Amino acid sequence: MNMDQKTLEQIKKSIKHAMLSPFYQKHFAGFDVKDITSEHDFLQIPFTEKEDLRSAYPLGLSAVPEEKIVRIHSSSGTTGIPVIIPYTQKDVHDWALMFKRCYETAGITPHDRVHITPGYGLWTAGIGFQLGAELLGAMTIPMGPGNTDKQIKMMIDLRSTVLTATSSYALLLAEEIEKRGVKNKIHLSKALIGSERWGDKMRKRIANELGVSLYDIYGLTEIYGPGIGISCDHACGMHMWTDYLFYEIIDPHTGCRVQEGQTGELVITTLTKEGAPLIRYRTRDLTREIPGSCPCGSPYPRIDTLIGRSDDMVKVKGVMIYPGKIDEMLADLDGVSSEYQVMIDHLNGKDMVTLFFETPVQDDEARKTLAETVRLVFKEKIGIMAKITPVGMGELPRSEKKTTRVFDNRY
Ligand code: ZN
Repeated sequence: MNMDQKTLEQIKKSIKHAMLSPFYQKHFAGFDVKDITSEHDFLQIPFTEKEDLRSAYPLGLSAVPEEKIVRIHSSSGTTGIPVIIPYTQKDVHDWALMFKRCYETAGITPHDRVHITPGYGLWTAGIGFQLGAELLGAMTIPMGPGNTDKQIKMMIDLRSTVLTATSSYALLLAEEIEKRGVKNKIHLSKALIGSERWGDKMRKRIANELGVSLYDIYGLTEIYGPGIGISCDHACGMHMWTDYLFYEIIDPHTGCRVQEGQTGELVITTLTKEGAPLIRYRTRDLTREIPGSCPCGSPYPRIDTLIGRSDDMVKVKGVMIYPGKIDEMLADLDGVSSEYQVMIDHLNGKDMVTLFFETPVQDDEARKTLAETVRLVFKEKIGIMAKITPVGMGELPRSEKKTTRVFDNRY
């Protein structure tokens, strides 16, 4: 997004405030906020990474006196030490205001009944959905996750009109409702789905089976939680609440800004956060800025649906390969399942990409034809040649956790 003078002043104020925390005193040691007079100066400021935040455990991120902190949330790391984010009363309220705006953008009103299935507790999800809906004046139904029987009973008896969920839980509920044959007793009309990479196939299934319009809601615990952006009725990217945050899209390898509209990693600077302000925080989420204005008339700029995490992204022969793009490409092809793996090897001085995918097609000739189709589409959509190897259904390894699909064996 563009940095105008007002935003620059807000950023300077936020940096000055951040420097009150033990974490930023160390991270920005020797740095003087007075030195920032332009966007160019701002770009010289080092990024803040999730790993850096761990070093501040437990409360090193706090930029306010202890009596100002009213709550903490924590982002679970896959590795060891969690990140603790302290919130002041104002932070909690600002978050609720942003969330209320999300509901309003999705056309939700005080007449709605909001069924909340994300978890409560240290994780930010459930309580964020709750506070925003209450501030809006809607009736909240704070279910939390699990107990599908009870979820569906409450949904029917209380006539929930809005579902809030992760995409996988929304799909599970949709399947259970279908199985029980109670679709005609469900009154849902909208679903707010926590942003993550999810394909069009899944999106269509949830929308059709639940009979709802879908909205992608964005956020991360380090920056308030979910609710810092949402898609509108036009479903063309997520509007970001840029009165609370400044964002940039960078090349994850070089750290430089990408050209407008190009895909890269989302970096966020908080503008008004008191408890734990963050400056140039690398979210690891891959997206792009959508140029131009939205038909809905919202003044807030948009980022595209996430296409994955920068940790999963690799560069081969100068071309970025994003797992999300491969998901999308395969989803559009007949005879190709959503299970695949990409291997990148360095052989005889050259980088080589191999795509393995599962297919129900068994006939050798038919498989060859399918592989040729995939090869051409891969070249066109991903921008690079790959060796294509179809395998039978269930042949690729599965993992309970998030499945890694791209393996870089070059280093
Ligand atoms: Zn819009």
